[in-house]
Amino acid sequence: MSFSSLQLLPLLVKQLTRLGYEQPTPIQQQAIPVVLSGKDVLAGAQTGTGKTAAFTLPIIQMLLQSKAMAPQVNDSVDDKQGALANYTQTLILVPTRELAQQVHQHVEKYASGTDIRSVIVYGGVSIKAQANAIQAGADIIVATPGRLLDHLRNRVMSLSKLKHLVFDEADRMLDMGFRDEIIEVLKRVPKERQTLLFSATLDERIFKFSKRLLDSPQVIET
Ligand code: AMP
Repeated sequence: MSFSSLQLLPLLVKQLTRLGYEQPTPIQQQAIPVVLSGKDVLAGAQTGTGKTAAFTLPIIQMLLQSKAMAPQVNDSVDDKQGALANYTQTLILVPTRELAQQVHQHVEKYASGTDIRSVIVYGGVSIKAQANAIQAGADIIVATPGRLLDHLRNRVMSLSKLKHLVFDEADRMLDMGFRDEIIEVLKRVPKERQTLLFSATLDERIFKFSKRLLDSPQVIET
């Protein structure tokens, strides 16, 4: 099985070859075509299986395709209140700052040479610098839930035009007590969206929680 047989754009396949990726891992083989089809996904995948590429590659591809159709789609515009809001298309929620940095680095590697811009959002650092980075334009926001909510409440950005929502390491997010924050984020995203949930464990707790987030998901276990 090759990356091009998964319907990835030649530009992305070339980039993967440059990075020395010879073939897709099992989670990538299963998840990439389903994500590209627009369906919701509930995936059980441990760290080290190539799970990050399994959701970032198809998302980068869909963003490139939507930009090709509507080049101005991510421009900042004045909202009704007169504040400048950035309407991001993709939000990747993660439990920790370290994971946010890792996911952001993956996006930068795979989207190198394109105009896809990823911005990281996490607590413990200057909120102003992050707000500036968001307002410079972000196709993808990789965020921990608490700081993301700060920016949403400050009207630095809006999720009202979100198309893709990803939960990475969802089990860890619940372990760390982010349940209420996640529910708060959900109130701010459109009903019509694609949602992907990745978790190291797929147990009853995750299935139950995922019912609030996912619409007829394809379940993938590796
Ligand atoms: P992850 O499970 O997403 O944390 O990825 C683990 C590591 O595998 C990362 O360093 C990736 O760069 C690498 N990786 C992901 N997919 C592939 C692949 N198809 N071939 C080779 N390395 C990969």
